[in-house]
Amino acid sequence: MLSKNPCIHEAILYEELPNKKVRCGVCERTCVILKGERGFCKTRENIDGKLFTLIYGDISSISANPIEKKPLFHFWPRSYALTIGSWSCNFTCPWCQNCGISKTAPNIRKSRYMSPEAFEKTMKANECVGSSISFNEPTLLLEYSLDVFDIVKEAGPYYNTYVTNMYMTEEALKLLIEHKCDAFAANMKGDAEVVKKYCGADVELVWRNLKLAKEMGAHVEVITLVIPTINDNEQILTEIATRIHEVLGKDTPWHCTRFHQAYKSRDLGLKEKTPISTLEKAYEIGKDAGLEYIYLGNVPGHEYENTYCPSCNELLIKRFIFDSQVFFKAKKRIDDVIYFEKRCPSCGKSIAIQGECILKEKTSFRL
Ligand code: SF4
Ligand code: SF4
Repeated sequence: MLSKNPCIHEAILYEELPNKKVRCGVCERTCVILKGERGFCKTRENIDGKLFTLIYGDISSISANPIEKKPLFHFWPRSYALTIGSWSCNFTCPWCQNCGISKTAPNIRKSRYMSPEAFEKTMKANECVGSSISFNEPTLLLEYSLDVFDIVKEAGPYYNTYVTNMYMTEEALKLLIEHKCDAFAANMKGDAEVVKKYCGADVELVWRNLKLAKEMGAHVEVITLVIPTINDNEQILTEIATRIHEVLGKDTPWHCTRFHQAYKSRDLGLKEKTPISTLEKAYEIGKDAGLEYIYLGNVPGHEYENTYCPSCNELLIKRFIFDSQVFFKAKKRIDDVIYFEKRCPSCGKSIAIQGECILKEKTSFRL
């Protein structure tokens, strides 16, 4: 029965060990898995001494989303990405806002397979110009991601993106970029202590991967869910902002998003949303660290959803949730100047935007 399920697919990064054990090489947990057992994430199983993924193309969720929803604000503005997720995660965040799928192991009797070819057709049929592997941790879909990315790139001038905790191995990350993963919306959840305690991970490996992705030419935007009492103190936020500046550069966007209750956050005594004043403090910390593009997320209509010129502070792109429009006192050719020439119409400073701009009104919709 197993061999007939297209979602069960031999893994590409693993090492065979004595006594039919295997070591998975997809993420930095590097699980050693006994015959007949699964790794930490439950998406990979040792079947008679070989490692198989159980979720190749097993799609839990699919929707056509504005790229701004990832969030990626400086990459192919105003385009749609066909966005999919599968099951499970390699982190243990108690505040997970996608727990319905990220805390659920795959069920191979209920796999919902979508081939990479069907992905590409669905993408085009829904006027998407790129892919996004998201929702749960996309690294667990490594093999499928590589095949989807190849097909998407062969089909035309389309892009590929990952919304991720960046805990893949270096080898996995290199494969993703070699197979044309163009952009990463990467979560930085706190300092070493927070990431160890709540996510069960080593934050230095996340920083290592961010640096490598940037060095290999990928576009990177960093997201921090600002959680009261967990990572909202000045020291942690300053450390994150300073390291973004040092490791990735001052023009790297930093999204500070608002926490709301989810999954087991109540067990941590977390009942309230992040105060707006805390998010605004994070914004100031980012500015003091020298970052040029800082955004507040999950606060519709806040002025810090917008893009301002880092040089003259002119309002350039006005946003409301995921919709965006250029905003400038003189309207003539402003779309062209900001999105296509990628410079401030007021002072001429170049604006860090990657890719083309799609001038469309958009809302997200499920398929
Ligand atoms: S992907 Fe990570 S968590 Fe899952 S089996 Fe491999 S090393 Fe373990
Ligand atoms: S890394 Fe993301 S998907 Fe995984 S548990 Fe944490 S918040 Fe959830």
